[in-house]
Formats: sequence, structure tokens, C-alpha cells
Amino acid sequence: DSEPREEDLQRISELMDGFKASKALFTACELRVFDLLQSQPGLDVTQVAQELKVSVKGTERLLEACVPLGLLKCKERTSQRCEYENTDLATRFLWSESPFSLHDHIQHCNSTVWPLFSHLENAVREGTSQHERAAANKPNNLFQDTYYRSREVKLRFMKAMHSVAKITGASVAKAFDLSGFRTACDVGGCTGAMAYEFAKAHPGLSVTVFDLPAVVEMTENFHPQDKNDQVSFVAGDFFKDELPKADLYILARILHDWPDDKVHSLLSKIAAMCSPGCGLLLSEIFLDKDRSGPSRGLLQALSMSDGKQRSAKEYSLLLESHGFVTAHVRHTDNLLDAMLCIKV
Ligand code: SAM
Repeated sequence: DSEPREEDLQRISELMDGFKASKALFTACELRVFDLLQSQPGLDVTQVAQELKVSVKGTERLLEACVPLGLLKCKERTSQRCEYENTDLATRFLWSESPFSLHDHIQHCNSTVWPLFSHLENAVREGTSQHERAAANKPNNLFQDTYYRSREVKLRFMKAMHSVAKITGASVAKAFDLSGFRTACDVGGCTGAMAYEFAKAHPGLSVTVFDLPAVVEMTENFHPQDKNDQVSFVAGDFFKDELPKADLYILARILHDWPDDKVHSLLSKIAAMCSPGCGLLLSEIFLDKDRSGPSRGLLQALSMSDGKQRSAKEYSLLLESHGFVTAHVRHTDNLLDAMLCIKV
């Protein structure tokens, strides 16, 4: 029973305060603090409060808290007064116009994931997702009934997917030699962000993005400036409709949303479209073999969707039962890992 160790206390208080740090980040994004300081670096508390039309007292506390979190720093400090500017981290990821901005993903976390996690005790007691409590509607299908319940919510979800896909897309696209493939189908490819990265990395590859009609009808909002005619869009339901023919199928952040029976029905549809040599590129967070990490994947699983997080081995076994042999697994050092499988 020795005295508590300093590093243990530090670890415990970091965990206890984690939610406060998340919410401070979400609030600063929501109020557009980082956008303001990107265009006008060097404002003090009163000026920021005035520009954002919020209280001086609240702004002072929020900006001060963002400093030890590594999000803001003082450009100039005179005894009592700090002229704030974004840190490099905020400039890279939090300002909404940055090429790698996570602003839209953070808004999704704040509006959709945060309410789910505030019901975590219920989620664990009941073993169910808390979308019904959080959003006051009863979803039969997570996408149609929750994420796509209104145009506004749908656009927010799509922007969130788009921002992460823009960050991860290039490393997933470059993870393997895909020179043997001519046509690809990005199944559940959402805004096309990932598909455009594949097209850029593999100029000989045509990519068809397949997603629900509700999504495809909104994709014009997301086309890159230098539109690339290697990428096209087809609307449909991957459980009900025929998939476009391709010699490489991409499944990025799809399978973790579904339980094994649904995964089997999707994989059997893909397998039926494939001849030997056809590829399947899977991109997900891969859990460690003993499921001891990474925490990102295990924490995401607490949202208690019908799906689950799996290890590379578990994905390989699911794919093997449909005739796909795992050729390579890559931990990409980015937010998503990747696996290339070949149909035998
Ligand atoms: N692949 C994208 C990425 O990595 O950024 C988006 C992943 S998002 C988690 C899942 C995608 O699957 C959404 O775009 C959603 O609309 C799509 N989806 C869900 N159910 C679908 C279905 N039944 N048919 C077609 N697409 C579906």
C-alpha cells in the first residue's frame, strides 16, 4: 500500500478528463474558433468573443483550455494578454478548409457519436445501439433511418466520411501493387473521395463508386476540382441490387458495420461477380490478434452498432469462406489498415 505513483495518477486523471478534452475540441470546432484564427491570427479573447458572438467569459475559458491540449498557442503574450493563433496541429487538421481537415468528422462526432456515448451504460446493459434514445427515432436500418433521415443530417454524415477518406485514401490506394487490375468497384464508396485517390494513384484503373441512391444523388457536392473521368457512380443497394462488374472490389469501412450473416451475404454477391484472379481490397481498423488493441477500434465498437470490429485474421477467415485468399496485409500508419485478397 505505497503512496500512489505520480505517473499512475496522471494516467487516471487523463482518462477521467478525456471527455472534457473531446468536448472542448468539438466546441471549438463547432464555434469555428480555428477558422477564425486561421484567417485572423493574433486575436485576443475579447476580439474572438466579439467575432464569434459568444460570451467573453466562456471564450476565455475555452481558449485557455485549448492551449495545454496543443490546439492553440500565444502568438504574442503581454503580461495578462495572449494573442491567439492555431498550432500546427490545428492548422493541419482543424481548420475547415485544410486539405486534411477533420472538421466535418468532428462535427459528426459531436452531433451523433457524443449523444450515443452519453447513453453508454444503457448500451452496455442492453447490448444495443442507443440511436433510438439519442436521435428519438427507431432505426431499422442505420443508414436509411438514422444517417440519411434528413438532407441536412445526410450531408453531415457524408462530409464526415469524406474528410476521413481524404486523409486515409492515398495510403490505402498505394498500399498494394494494383497494376494487374483495370476496373474497380468501390462498394459503399460514399462521396467518391477514396475512389479519386485510387484513380490518382493508378492512372490505368477505372473506378465505379456504388452506394445507395440517397447518397449518389448528393455526390456532385464532393467532386474534386480537377474532375477525373476514371471515376463514375452507380446507385443501388448492395444487399438487393446487382453490383457493377469489376476485377477489383474495394470495401473500405463497410464490413465493421455489419454482423457476420450480412457480411456473408455481401461477400457471396461479390464472389459471384468474380472470376479467378479477381481482387478484393478490404480497408478497416484491424484489431490485434489477441484483441488487445488498438484502442481506436475497441472504443469505436462501443457505439454498439449491429456490426463488430475484427482482426485481420477474422476478416481473412470470412473472406476465405467465399474463395478469397489473403495475399497481403498492411498496417498503413494511417487511420485505416488494408488487406488485398485474390479469388482462387
Ligand atoms: N467507403 C467509404 C469510406 O471509407 O469513406 C464510406 C464508408 S461508410 C462507413 C459506409 C457506406 O456504406 C456509406 O456510404 C453508406 O451509404 C454505404 N451503404 C450502407 N448500406 C448500403 C447498402 N445497403 N447499399 C449500398 N451502400 C450502402
